[in-house]
Amino acid sequence: MGIVAAMRCPECGQTLIGVAESSPCPECGTPSTLAERHVPPLLPTWKLVVGMAWPTAVGVAMVLSIIWILNSAVDGAAFFVALGAIVMLLVIGPIKAAVWVHVLMGRLPRRVRAAPLLALIPRSIAVPLLVAAAVAVLNAALGFGACLVTLSVAVRR
Ligand SMILES: [Zn+2]
Repeated sequence: MGIVAAMRCPECGQTLIGVAESSPCPECGTPSTLAERHVPPLLPTWKLVVGMAWPTAVGVAMVLSIIWILNSAVDGAAFFVALGAIVMLLVIGPIKAAVWVHVLMGRLPRRVRAAPLLALIPRSIAVPLLVAAAVAVLNAALGFGACLVTLSVAVRR
Protein backbone atom coordinates (compact mmCIF):
# COMPACT_ATOMS: atom_id res chain seq x y z
CA MET A 1 0.00 0.00 0.00
CA GLY A 2 1.52 3.32 -1.03
CA ILE A 3 1.43 6.39 1.16
CA VAL A 4 -0.88 9.08 -0.18
CA ALA A 5 0.69 12.51 0.27
CA ALA A 6 -1.45 14.74 2.49
CA MET A 7 -2.69 17.84 0.72
CA ARG A 8 -3.85 20.74 2.81
CA CYS A 9 -4.23 24.50 2.67
CA PRO A 10 -0.90 26.05 3.78
CA GLU A 11 -2.83 28.93 5.36
CA CYS A 12 -5.62 27.30 7.42
CA GLY A 13 -4.91 23.55 7.24
CA GLN A 14 -8.12 22.57 5.45
CA THR A 15 -7.76 19.28 3.52
CA LEU A 16 -7.60 20.07 -0.20
CA ILE A 17 -7.78 16.60 -1.75
CA GLY A 18 -9.81 16.92 -4.95
CA VAL A 19 -9.53 20.72 -5.08
CA ALA A 20 -7.99 21.88 -8.37
CA GLU A 21 -4.71 23.83 -8.23
CA SER A 22 -6.34 26.84 -9.83
CA SER A 23 -9.11 26.93 -7.18
CA PRO A 24 -8.62 28.75 -3.86
CA CYS A 25 -9.19 27.03 -0.49
CA PRO A 26 -12.96 26.61 0.10
CA GLU A 27 -12.43 27.41 3.81
CA CYS A 28 -10.32 30.59 3.80
CA GLY A 29 -10.11 31.53 0.11
CA THR A 30 -6.30 31.48 -0.03
CA PRO A 31 -4.90 30.31 -3.40
CA SER A 32 -2.03 27.79 -3.23
CA THR A 33 0.09 25.70 -5.57
CA LEU A 34 0.23 21.88 -5.35
CA ALA A 35 3.78 22.16 -3.96
CA GLU A 36 2.57 24.42 -1.13
CA ARG A 37 -0.27 22.02 -0.31
CA HIS A 38 2.09 19.12 0.24
CA VAL A 39 2.62 18.40 3.97
CA PRO A 40 6.24 17.41 4.74
CA PRO A 41 6.45 13.83 6.07
CA LEU A 42 6.80 13.34 9.82
CA LEU A 43 10.30 12.27 10.89
CA PRO A 44 10.74 8.86 12.55
CA THR A 45 10.43 9.05 16.36
CA TRP A 46 13.93 7.62 16.96
CA LYS A 47 15.40 10.35 14.78
CA LEU A 48 13.64 13.03 16.82
CA VAL A 49 14.66 11.52 20.16
CA VAL A 50 18.30 11.05 19.09
CA GLY A 51 18.38 14.50 17.48
CA MET A 52 17.15 16.23 20.64
CA ALA A 53 18.82 14.05 23.30
CA TRP A 54 22.41 13.52 22.08
CA PRO A 55 23.83 16.76 23.59
CA THR A 56 22.35 15.75 26.99
CA ALA A 57 23.85 12.26 26.74
CA VAL A 58 27.27 13.61 25.67
CA GLY A 59 27.23 16.30 28.40
CA VAL A 60 26.38 13.81 31.18
CA ALA A 61 29.01 11.36 29.86
CA MET A 62 31.60 14.18 29.93
CA VAL A 63 30.79 15.03 33.57
CA LEU A 64 31.04 11.35 34.55
CA SER A 65 34.32 10.94 32.64
CA ILE A 66 35.93 13.57 34.93
CA ILE A 67 36.29 10.81 37.57
CA TRP A 68 38.84 9.04 35.38
CA ILE A 69 40.40 12.19 33.95
CA LEU A 70 41.24 13.48 37.46
CA ASN A 71 43.19 10.31 38.19
CA SER A 72 45.11 9.92 34.96
CA ALA A 73 45.23 12.84 32.53
CA VAL A 74 47.31 15.99 32.42
CA ASP A 75 46.63 18.97 34.68
CA GLY A 76 43.75 21.14 33.53
CA ALA A 77 42.13 18.48 31.35
CA ALA A 78 39.26 18.08 33.82
CA PHE A 79 38.57 21.81 33.65
CA PHE A 80 38.20 21.75 29.87
CA VAL A 81 36.01 18.63 29.97
CA ALA A 82 33.80 20.34 32.58
CA LEU A 83 33.63 23.45 30.38
CA GLY A 84 32.71 21.29 27.39
CA ALA A 85 29.99 19.57 29.40
CA ILE A 86 28.49 22.94 30.42
CA VAL A 87 28.48 24.15 26.79
CA MET A 88 26.94 20.84 25.66
CA LEU A 89 24.20 20.84 28.33
CA LEU A 90 23.31 24.54 28.48
CA VAL A 91 24.06 25.83 24.96
CA ILE A 92 24.11 23.07 22.31
CA GLY A 93 21.27 21.01 23.89
CA PRO A 94 18.72 23.86 24.13
CA ILE A 95 19.62 25.18 20.64
CA LYS A 96 19.26 21.71 19.08
CA ALA A 97 15.88 21.19 20.79
CA ALA A 98 14.64 24.60 19.59
CA VAL A 99 15.74 23.84 16.00
CA TRP A 100 13.97 20.46 16.01
CA VAL A 101 10.76 21.96 17.39
CA HIS A 102 10.95 24.70 14.76
CA VAL A 103 11.32 22.05 12.03
CA LEU A 104 8.36 20.09 13.41
CA MET A 105 6.23 23.25 13.53
CA GLY A 106 6.85 23.71 9.81
CA ARG A 107 4.19 21.03 9.35
CA LEU A 108 1.55 23.26 10.91
CA PRO A 109 -0.62 25.58 8.79
CA ARG A 110 0.65 29.17 8.68
CA ARG A 111 -2.38 30.46 10.60
CA VAL A 112 -1.59 28.17 13.56
CA ARG A 113 2.16 28.92 13.51
CA ALA A 114 1.72 32.68 13.33
CA ALA A 115 -0.89 32.93 16.11
CA PRO A 116 0.64 34.80 19.05
CA LEU A 117 1.30 32.66 22.13
CA LEU A 118 2.85 35.11 24.59
CA ALA A 119 1.64 38.64 23.96
CA LEU A 120 2.99 39.46 20.47
CA ILE A 121 5.49 36.66 19.90
CA PRO A 122 4.29 34.19 17.21
CA ARG A 123 4.10 30.54 18.29
CA SER A 124 6.73 29.51 15.73
CA ILE A 125 9.25 31.52 17.80
CA ALA A 126 7.73 31.31 21.30
CA VAL A 127 7.32 27.51 21.42
CA PRO A 128 10.94 26.68 20.38
CA LEU A 129 12.19 29.27 22.94
CA LEU A 130 10.07 27.70 25.72
CA VAL A 131 11.31 24.23 24.75
CA ALA A 132 14.92 25.50 24.78
CA ALA A 133 14.40 26.94 28.29
CA ALA A 134 12.85 23.66 29.49
CA VAL A 135 15.75 21.64 28.04
CA ALA A 136 18.28 23.99 29.69
CA VAL A 137 16.60 23.44 33.10
CA LEU A 138 16.40 19.67 32.56
CA ASN A 139 20.04 19.47 31.40
CA ALA A 140 21.20 21.60 34.36
CA ALA A 141 19.47 19.13 36.71
CA LEU A 142 20.97 16.11 34.92
CA GLY A 143 24.43 17.72 34.84
CA PHE A 144 24.17 18.52 38.56
CA GLY A 145 23.18 14.91 39.24
CA ALA A 146 26.19 13.69 37.25
CA CYS A 147 28.39 16.09 39.29
CA LEU A 148 27.10 14.55 42.53
CA VAL A 149 27.90 11.06 41.23
CA THR A 150 31.40 12.22 40.20
CA LEU A 151 31.99 13.87 43.61
CA SER A 152 30.74 10.90 45.59
CA VAL A 153 33.07 8.56 43.64
CA ALA A 154 36.00 11.00 44.00
CA VAL A 155 35.48 11.37 47.76
CA ARG A 156 35.30 7.62 48.30
CA ARG A 157 38.76 7.11 46.82
ZN1 LIG B 1 -7.48 27.58 3.73
